[in-house]
Amino acid sequence: MGFSAFLTWTAVWVAILHQLHQVTAFPLHAAALNDIPTYSDSTDREWRMQVDAHVKEHLATILRDEAVNRLDKLGKVSDSPEFLQRTFMSPAALRAGQLIRTWMSDAGLFTWIDDMGNVHGRFDGMNSSAPALLIGSHMDTVIDAGRYDGALGVVSAIAAVKALQKSGRLVDYPRPIEIIAFSDEEGVRFQSTFLGSGAIAGTLSPNLLQVKDKRGVTVSAALQKLSFPGTKESLFNLKYEPESVWGYVEVHIEQGPVLESKGLPLGVVDAIAGQTRLRVSMKGSAGHAGTVPMAMRKDPMPAAAQAIVAIEELCIRPQQGGSPATVSRPTANKGGALVCTVGEIASWPGASNVIPGEVTFSVDVRAKDDNVRELAVLNMELSIHEICRNRAIACTIERKNEAKTVECDKELIDRLSVSATAATNELFSLTGVQTTNEEPVPTLSSGAGHDALAMAQLTKVGIMFVRCTGGISHSPEEHVLDDDIWAAGLALHSFLESDLPASFSA
Ligand SMILES: [Zn+2]
Repeated sequence: MGFSAFLTWTAVWVAILHQLHQVTAFPLHAAALNDIPTYSDSTDREWRMQVDAHVKEHLATILRDEAVNRLDKLGKVSDSPEFLQRTFMSPAALRAGQLIRTWMSDAGLFTWIDDMGNVHGRFDGMNSSAPALLIGSHMDTVIDAGRYDGALGVVSAIAAVKALQKSGRLVDYPRPIEIIAFSDEEGVRFQSTFLGSGAIAGTLSPNLLQVKDKRGVTVSAALQKLSFPGTKESLFNLKYEPESVWGYVEVHIEQGPVLESKGLPLGVVDAIAGQTRLRVSMKGSAGHAGTVPMAMRKDPMPAAAQAIVAIEELCIRPQQGGSPATVSRPTANKGGALVCTVGEIASWPGASNVIPGEVTFSVDVRAKDDNVRELAVLNMELSIHEICRNRAIACTIERKNEAKTVECDKELIDRLSVSATAATNELFSLTGVQTTNEEPVPTLSSGAGHDALAMAQLTKVGIMFVRCTGGISHSPEEHVLDDDIWAAGLALHSFLESDLPASFSA
């Protein structure tokens, strides 16, 4: 490096550090502008190492302190004074969108809100026409929500990009980076998930605009009330062309207990589990609870109970499952990858002194391996029909929903694993955590969809999970440790850094 290049470099760092002091609203650790060593104090390499150490302290401020503070702030933007709730196009959702937009601007991004209420922040990098890296998650919540589901992905993406911008290296990024805070993932208001990411990925049917909420307001009317067009054309125009996108990355809380059980802050997702939803209806004969002898009953309730236990058994031990000769058996339920849930049950007429005439219940089956899931569902159907036959109950099974497994991109899995490993090791060394874990970043499959499920229709996807206390989510009890928020920011920052051209080599 020539002396004039060195002077430029020095000037850049001084300007950056000066700016950091100007904009940071939090106490900086030990850093002060006059602590920066001058070049004449030491050799080039030593000087650079000292400046790097200095900048690292500032990174902690952006990636941890400020991110934690922003999650606290966003967690208070709610439609209810008692609990956290932000649904599609609600007043709090709009306020949250504006707040996120100011944070994106603060990170040096060009911002806009699209016709589905998604908030975008973009930086063109070295090549504005190159396919863009999209990073995102959702800003809507369930009712009585936690403050990290969705919000963590948005806040840590902004923090990582801001850190890169403050260190003067965002301009060198080889492609555009675009952060998107999606307007609807939970689907609380219209019972239809992915209104935000589905619009970008082009997976939404135009009929969706006519879906009504509980008060009879359509998606279209909800948008138009807030001056969005709410038309089929505007929905169509939101779709990104696959050629314009390089890939999609999402940081999300795990919403499960695996990372906590391993004592690790971060994990990388290899696949989003496929899903089948069944609706089972069993019809018998309604009757008086006191007058119909047991031998003369056609009671669908014990049949349903027996079927529900059989479903659980098939899920725990699929290899031994109710299996006619025509069905080949799955090898194993790999590490709990097959999960089955009966979450909803209703009986008609539903009175304590009446033998029910009909019982209906839902079955939700998920697995990383589509064959394992499909075979489990087939076995369930056979088993349910057999139970109904034996009890002379009429039985119908409807397949309400079927989604295949989405594999995450191999390159993104590898790169996110490398970045998450570096971040975990750095966090452990900074916080003095001793670990004997040989695998600092486990690979997990995701049982929940996330915006990445919709975005996978558009581009390759990668997901990083962050540990949450007790695996609890969709509840005010949902919690992520401050240091784990830091780890997520460090990992995403390191992921972005790995795309930068090698620079300033000594
Ligand atoms: Zn979520």
